[in-house]
Amino acid sequence: MPTWTPLRLLAWTQEFFAKKGIDAPRLTAELLLAHALSCDRVRLYLDFDKPLGDPELARFRELVRRRGEGEPTAYLVGRREFYGRPYRVDPRVLVPRPETELLVEAALAALPEGGRALDLCTGSGCVAISLALARPAARVVATDVSDGALALARENAAALGAVVEFATGDLWSAVHGAEPFDVVVSNPPYVPTKELAGLSREVRREPCIALDGGPDGLALLRRIVEGAASRLRPGGTLCLEMHESHVEAVPALCRTAGFARAEARRDLAGLPRLTVATLASREDPA
Ligand code: GLN
Repeated sequence: MPTWTPLRLLAWTQEFFAKKGIDAPRLTAELLLAHALSCDRVRLYLDFDKPLGDPELARFRELVRRRGEGEPTAYLVGRREFYGRPYRVDPRVLVPRPETELLVEAALAALPEGGRALDLCTGSGCVAISLALARPAARVVATDVSDGALALARENAAALGAVVEFATGDLWSAVHGAEPFDVVVSNPPYVPTKELAGLSREVRREPCIALDGGPDGLALLRRIVEGAASRLRPGGTLCLEMHESHVEAVPALCRTAGFARAEARRDLAGLPRLTVATLASREDPA
């Protein structure tokens, strides 16, 4: 029987994951081993030749097996970094994606200190919480139709010390009060239904309700755009994440709904991923 040290386990697991076509095989192996040993990744290299005990080895093997079967790493370890902070995640919510950090940046550019922001379809809460922590004097409201998602979002806000007002409900039905927002932001489900079956095994483990955007992927985006103009102040901004195939459709929806300007922006992979739309301000020429 070989002695399983972190070094040997990482080498074996990296190769196993690479053969299975799993993304970032080394990093994945490290994250799972650190989780099995309840330590951070640096510790693995400090103790790289210290043999593992049987319970730890059993825990790690189980994580490797589940990852090999397509469970996302973030669900297995129960956390994912977003905008520089750790979030708890589990199968009740979509795993935060790096491209969604651009949505936070677009929203922050339009959110003054002391302003008001609304995040629809908040999921893990990562967008709303990032806004609230970057603008402590702003009022941030976040909604989701899923009670499970909101429970987790509340936990994340509490753990990170963010003040966010959460409300359950289907899009605009959860938003009360007449005071207008400076920014409305959303990463709604936007994958066209017929594309769901073709998503990776990992993404298919994520909640369908967080991905399925209806026949053309625009079912929720359309309702968000239609309701946004009357909830934003003059000059207010709508920031939306969208499917790359919506590069024309979402800006066009915004213009039809009365936004003065609407432009698509690309993510780091070069794909159109956001639409940022602005209402005319009172000073703008008619
Ligand atoms: N970006 C996600 C994906 O490609 C989709 C997220 C969403 O529908 N909001 O799987």
